[in-house]
Amino acid sequence: MRHARLVAVAMLLVAGTLGAWPGAPEKDYPTTPVPLTDVTFTDPFWAPRLETVRTVTLAATFKQSEDTGRIKNFEIAGGLATGAFCSRYAFDDSDVFKIIEGAAYALTTKADPALSAYVDGLVGKIAKAQEPDGYLYTARTIDPAKAMPMAGKARWINEEESHELYNAGHLYEAAVAHYQATGTRTLLDVAIRNADLICSVFNLQGRRAVPGHQEIEIGLVKLYRTTGNRKYLDQAQFFLDQRGKADGHKLYGEYAQDHKPVAEQTEAVGHSVRAAYMYSGMADVAALTGNQPYIAALNRLWDNVVGRKLYLTGGIGATGAWEGFGPDYDLPNSAYAETCASIANALWNYRMFLLEPDAKYFDIYERAVYNAMLSGLSLSGDRFFYPNPLLSLGQHERSPWFACACCPSNLPRFMLSIPGHAYAVAGNDIFVNLYVQGSARIKTPQGVVAFDVKTNYPWSGDVRIIMTQVPRSTGLVLRLRVPGWARGEPVPGDLYRDVAPLDGGVTLSVDGEPKSNTLRPIGGYLISRGYLTIPLGSTVGTYYDLHLPMPIRRVVAHPSVKADAGRVAVERGPLVYAAEFVDNGGRVTNLQLSDNAALRSQQRPDLLGGVTVITGPATAYRTRDEKVVAQTVPMTLIPYYAWAHRGKGEMVVWLAREADKARPAPETTLASQAKASSSEGGKTLQGLNEQYEPTDSNDHTGIYFHWWPKKNTTEWVQYDLAAPATVSETSVYWFDDTGQGECRTPRSWRVLYKRGDEWVPVATTDPYGTTKDRYNTVRFTPVQTTAIRLEVQLPEKFSAGIQEWKIK
Ligand SMILES: [Zn+2]
Repeated sequence: MRHARLVAVAMLLVAGTLGAWPGAPEKDYPTTPVPLTDVTFTDPFWAPRLETVRTVTLAATFKQSEDTGRIKNFEIAGGLATGAFCSRYAFDDSDVFKIIEGAAYALTTKADPALSAYVDGLVGKIAKAQEPDGYLYTARTIDPAKAMPMAGKARWINEEESHELYNAGHLYEAAVAHYQATGTRTLLDVAIRNADLICSVFNLQGRRAVPGHQEIEIGLVKLYRTTGNRKYLDQAQFFLDQRGKADGHKLYGEYAQDHKPVAEQTEAVGHSVRAAYMYSGMADVAALTGNQPYIAALNRLWDNVVGRKLYLTGGIGATGAWEGFGPDYDLPNSAYAETCASIANALWNYRMFLLEPDAKYFDIYERAVYNAMLSGLSLSGDRFFYPNPLLSLGQHERSPWFACACCPSNLPRFMLSIPGHAYAVAGNDIFVNLYVQGSARIKTPQGVVAFDVKTNYPWSGDVRIIMTQVPRSTGLVLRLRVPGWARGEPVPGDLYRDVAPLDGGVTLSVDGEPKSNTLRPIGGYLISRGYLTIPLGSTVGTYYDLHLPMPIRRVVAHPSVKADAGRVAVERGPLVYAAEFVDNGGRVTNLQLSDNAALRSQQRPDLLGGVTVITGPATAYRTRDEKVVAQTVPMTLIPYYAWAHRGKGEMVVWLAREADKARPAPETTLASQAKASSSEGGKTLQGLNEQYEPTDSNDHTGIYFHWWPKKNTTEWVQYDLAAPATVSETSVYWFDDTGQGECRTPRSWRVLYKRGDEWVPVATTDPYGTTKDRYNTVRFTPVQTTAIRLEVQLPEKFSAGIQEWKIK
């Protein structure tokens, strides 16, 4: 009973606080989101997924937080348990805050006494872990004298790495969500005490360091909206304004977007999650303060990302070396595209829309959410991707957790907030941004508007909106997003384009009467900034049928994107498609899709939770007796988000369009059939003989084997042959990631073979080469053996690795 009452209070609070903030700011986003409590999803795509997140992902991530010591850290810091800091990173507190935020969204929409009680328990532990002056950071509080190096020897002196302010930001976001969900101030008070301390420490008279990882700016703004206390907004702006200013702190450089003042930034650089959180914070502050230089910078940065640094999947961050952006048009399909970065990209574009309602922002949001972000979570809800590449040679599979668990903890909070992004209001305009079956109840200046939505989106482009409540007053306007993909513009700008652009096909009818049959203005209905604009009638029961054409589309990239040259990707509606080994005879990098191959879509309710697949003929290339042969084969494509659920193997988004881009399936060799083992590791052993031909020693596309972090030791790799054979030659392509990592070519090496039970060096006069960027071949007196071994002396200060190892 008590719980039911609490939930009722919570509903009121959410409706009250999200719609109109207490002490409503003078300036704000011109567009107001419709809170998630006023939106219901009942469709077969999102509703079951969100239910999985609510019932599986939340539990799984809380359990992992328990098992990895993240929760115990709070208990120890709060004196409820004894011991040392027992997880790995100083930012591990933030994962718990993020999952609590997700749980809070779950609780706002559905009562769950067990979850509620568990969260209450966690909040109690967090409150205990807070120091009397408000400081909250278990990595230090547990034992300040033994704080790990990244935490710094004292509070806030190593902010570049410590994540003290980053953790705080996630605490504030969680606290606001928890307050809105439960109506209790327990976590909010913890957040306020912490924020008050930070405001008193970081200011022009005090510390002028900025967060090494942005996030607190977003949290502070939420705290401002919830409490009405302006100092939190000012503090968010302070952190943004100090960025890139060398007179207050030693600059962190491009990696943390601390290379120049934020208002002067023009190119997206560095760590992509840091960047997009910062852009989101700038949008929030700009909306609330009218800061025009921020808005101008955001527009430039957006043009840069969308025009030059965006993956087709909506992912951002090309390289794992700094988890971030590469140069313009540098979009290798080995893509890092961290799950968190897709979330950050969506959060940023969502705010750009609120700032200036244009459908182009939701084109990016939708692309990121339906593709790159969704790939981050398994259909089962308890396995995760950190990077989301557009090409796999079989080295990728989702994991139940990571030592750095930012992505698993980010997914529930983001996904459970999606219903709150679907609709928005600006004056008399009602924006429909996402098409999801269900219903919405929207407060407008003319009164409440409510409607049901019937659609099978994203599998179908037919959407019916049926009015269930409309005010008498006229003047309201329905603005239905016509996605770029339905207007012949898959992304705003020219980074990607349709091979055969759609021309028309979008139709609208009202109560069954056709009102327009083309994109162009017809019958008074205009497409303005990507929205079809319809005056809203005042009759309950009126229905609007929007038809978005959903043909299979072929997409190509801007010629400057070298990785996609001569390649083509396939899309249908908002979904990017991928070819996966399991549907295509074991390989897909050897397939070529010609422009005139007829493709068809087919619903497969039995497959991958129910998907529409795309099928058609492709040309498969194989090597036979050292000659390349081509053969027409049936090809099946699945939605990209659903890849990697049926074992490890090849996957490509960008299929070869030109024959020379296909990688002929290699013939089996002694090496490819051998069983690999090594002195150390084992995770990447398949890299030795997966038969990917590297372009250079630093090529990260294929799978590479390495001994890192071992240095200055003698190590080995070994092939146990499928059957005894005569071997007389070996070729090694060394891995060397100078500029990114700690692998170099080895100091020396030699070849041994197995004779009986002993390892014997082969007889050779060839030099054992350590040249980069090519094979180093050694011929030796033929040996009859069952196993061959490379013995490698690692450099004194570096490790080493192997791209590919062949034997003959
Ligand atoms: Zn992450």
